This record gives sequence, C-alpha cells and structure tokens, in this order.
Amino acid sequence: MALLVVGSVALDTVETPFGRIDDALGGSAVFFACAASLLVPVQIVGVVGRDYPMDELKRLAARGIDLSGITVADGESFRWSGKYAFDMSTRETLETRLGVFANFKPQIPAAFRSSEYVFLGNIDPELQLDVLTQVTKPKFVACDTMNYWIQGKRTALLKLLEHVDCLMVNDSEIRELSGDWHIHRAARWVIERGPKYVVIKQGEHGAVLVGGAKVFYVPAFPLEDVFDPTGAGDAFAGGFMAHLAKAGALTDRTLRLAMVYGSAMGSFAVERFSVQRFDEIAQGDVVSRVREYRDLVHFEPEPLA
Ligand code: AMP
Repeated sequence: MALLVVGSVALDTVETPFGRIDDALGGSAVFFACAASLLVPVQIVGVVGRDYPMDELKRLAARGIDLSGITVADGESFRWSGKYAFDMSTRETLETRLGVFANFKPQIPAAFRSSEYVFLGNIDPELQLDVLTQVTKPKFVACDTMNYWIQGKRTALLKLLEHVDCLMVNDSEIRELSGDWHIHRAARWVIERGPKYVVIKQGEHGAVLVGGAKVFYVPAFPLEDVFDPTGAGDAFAGGFMAHLAKAGALTDRTLRLAMVYGSAMGSFAVERFSVQRFDEIAQGDVVSRVREYRDLVHFEPEPLA
C-alpha cells in the first residue's frame, strides 16, 4: 500500500543540554519518511535549495524512500534552529529561515497520485488542501498543523478538516484550535468538523487516540536517555501511518496498534540527533519495542465478586 508524505525538508541546528548539531537532515517529511520506511515504502514530496546536502538525502533512497517528488529550487534550503531546556521538552525556536520553502507549492508526481495513505505534514492548510485535489482517492488522510496556522489560517484549516480522516496535533495545538482546555472535549469538537479520528501527542506523557466515543492511550516508551526530542511527533506520525498502510485495514485493532508503532518510532527518533537513530535500526528492532509495550500497559483486573 503506497504511503505519501508532503512536508518540510529542512536543515536543523539543534542544541540540547547534551550536545549540539548543525545543519543536520530534518523537517517533518524527512522524520516521517525515515520512520515509516522501516515498515513500508514511502513517497516524499518537498523542496530543497541548491545548498542541500543531496548525497545525504539520496542515501534515504536505499531505505525505500522514493525521492522523485523532491524539487531542487534556486535559493537556500529551509533552516530551523532550536534549543531545549534541561527538562528536554521545553523548546525555544531560535531561528526559522524559510528560504525556498516560502514558495513551496507541492506538485504531486503522476506516479504518486494514486497513493492510498497520505500524510500532510505541517504546512499552510491551503497547500494541504491543494495536495488533496491532486491525489485521486486516498483511503486514509492524516494531517498535522501548528499554532501559526491555527491563528493565521483558521478558515482554510477548518475547511481542510472536512476532508481529512485524522488530525494529529499536540495538546497545546488542539486547545488553541478548539478553545477548550479539556483535550477529550477538544478532540470531539474536531470530530464534529470532519475527521473521524484525532491523535493528540503529549511528548513524554504519551499520546491519545480519540475516535467517536472511544479513547485509547499509549504511553511514551520509558527511555533511560533522551538525546534530542526534535522530530518525535513526525516520527510518531510515520509509525502510525505506516502501520495502517501495512495492515491495509482500518479497524479498532489496527488503529490501536498504529498508536503503539507511532509511540515506538517517536522513542527511536529522540535517542540520537537528527534522523541518525533510523540508520542503526531495522524493522525487527521496531517490532521488538512494540512488543515491550505489552508489559508496560497489561494488567489483570481482579475477578468480579
Ligand atoms: P517536531 O519536533 O515534531 O515539532 O518537528 C520538528 C521538525 O519540524 C524540525 O525538523 C523542523 O525542521 C521542522 N519545522 C520547524 N518549524 C517548521 C515550520 N514552520 N514548518 C515546517 N516544518 C517546520
């Protein structure tokens, strides 16, 4: 089952209490694709400038990432820079230099248009909507967004929600979008506007799936060391979507397992800088970590008296 991602392809400069990396591979589409490609082939659409380290990007092709939707444009690549506090979750964005990303108009190659699973990374909701006019008949579409678009492009974002199956955001984003502090109520507010499912990512506190009246929680994997939290949300989305694409069915069971795959991929992403951890692991490592979640959440209730 083909899986398509459209989003940022960036050069990230990240500083954490444990180290620093400059101009490393990053962006929502790159984190998503590196995670998802451990389970299924991935098609990526994005833009880079002439200064992008194309040799490093091309190495991703060996993992089953189809890069033919990457456009190289005249100008500088998108650069993002952030610094994490000692709690490893509070993040300050130091710089966002859009470069060629400012004029990004995703063109979906003909060979990608029939993709059945589509992830719309965090870009202008008008562009996310435009992508949906270019794909033929996807079986499942999920999208991300951020506070910047919730404040600046609310009308387009609400229109987009009418056309997606799943919204994946963090808790502050869904609170701002819905105007409700209570995340379950906020998720239902979103569901009334189109999506059947809402995934709310809560960093070290795990993630929650709300679908109809049902709620499912998955914890964050209890890692000894977190090295760089950048991209965890996009890697989560990659694991979630890749499991659904691989399973080929949208059932309560596949959606719950997709949440666990998402959480597992997020946990791998944060173990190294940039997408480095995905160079070290294979599908078997992901499956093993998914199995470890069983012990984390399983318990036997006392029999009813
Ligand atoms: P996350 O840690 O899940 O928020 O994702 C961080 C990734 O998103 C980094 O690799 C950045 O390059 C990318 N990013 C940061 N700001 C933006 C933005 N405004 N639009 C698109 N991607 C961004």
